[in-house]
Amino acid sequence: MAMKTIVALPGEGIGLEVVDATCEVLMGTGLPLKILTPPQGSPLPEETKQAAREADGVLFGAAGPSTSAVVSWLRWEMSAWAGVRPIRFFPGMRSPLADPDGIDYILLRENSEGLYPGREGDLADLVNVMPDLSDKTGRKVKDFGDEGRFAVKIVTPKGAERIARFACNLALKRKARGKPGKVTCITKSNVLPRTDGLYQQTAERIVGEAGLQFEHFHVDDAARRLVRFPKSMDVVLCMNLYGDILSDLGAETAGGLGLAPSGNFGDDGWAYFESVHGSAPDIAGKGIANPTATILSAALMLDHMGLGADAQRLQDAVGRVYRDGKTLTIDQGGSAKTREMAQAVLAAYR
Ligand code: NAD
Repeated sequence: MAMKTIVALPGEGIGLEVVDATCEVLMGTGLPLKILTPPQGSPLPEETKQAAREADGVLFGAAGPSTSAVVSWLRWEMSAWAGVRPIRFFPGMRSPLADPDGIDYILLRENSEGLYPGREGDLADLVNVMPDLSDKTGRKVKDFGDEGRFAVKIVTPKGAERIARFACNLALKRKARGKPGKVTCITKSNVLPRTDGLYQQTAERIVGEAGLQFEHFHVDDAARRLVRFPKSMDVVLCMNLYGDILSDLGAETAGGLGLAPSGNFGDDGWAYFESVHGSAPDIAGKGIANPTATILSAALMLDHMGLGADAQRLQDAVGRVYRDGKTLTIDQGGSAKTREMAQAVLAAYR
């Protein structure tokens, strides 16, 4: 098999620890992988951008205040608009739910529109250009006075359509493996009928055209459903902010934030992979972070690199470590260090 190149960008905080541990696992698999660790920094150096553009796989750790430029480039400048966040319970994970066995869905986050990345300004400037913009009660922008700030939410038909098609492709692939073939769309279209409404209507049309089941819930109702009925979910299609929030909630139903991986896909097959969690300054530097989210992100990356069987083997190895329950980190009720748990996954892989 030809050598494949991976670019590893740890970010900061526990990102350093979990990426290190995961790279050791990847190298230990014996796959023909070369891992590059080009410099980070703000702005991200050109040589790093080039390496990440050309790599077969890109693995990111976690951003914090001093490395936000890395994730900003990966997600927004590279336009990785589809955030795939699998929520899956492996027996042995410390779920707070009484009966988590069988939780297995994908939360799909639209990464490029909505309220992200932030576009904010002074209210006085908005009042200058759109004084008469009004809400449904008739209250106008100028009625707020000119002291304050505003943020802009953007939804385009192009952005809504491409993420809805992506959701359909995921649901069709899952259906072929025996899943229901359903897309659950989450918005707040009752309050935002023009922006969230556009997203919802676009999704409903495209899911219908694909011959898949469609359902829609408002985000407040959806939050409760993801706790109460997580096993009824298949592909959960979220707007940007709702997906950011609900993926932490979903991760917790499976057992915690340290468990949730993601893949972020852009145009022309480019993608990068990262845990859902952040740099966790409260536990950084102690070597106790759970490496599962990053190892599972690496499995998604291997799959994307055409190494599907090895990706499955790595996921199965994670599953065995949880079933065995002897080498888990503190968040999962164990006492293993980050590296010890990662090494247990590698031993199970072998
Ligand atoms: P966080 O995800 O870093 O941590 C939230 C909580 O979960 C903390 O108590 C932390 O200890 C725990 N946790 C997270 N990952 C864990 C792991 N692998 N094992 C065990 N416990 C884990 O969120 P935060 O504290 O709100 O944010 C810290 C920084 O991370 C901020 O600067 C934020 O902007 C950034 N952030 C980055 C990303 C990203 O890179 N995609 C995502 C979220 C937050």
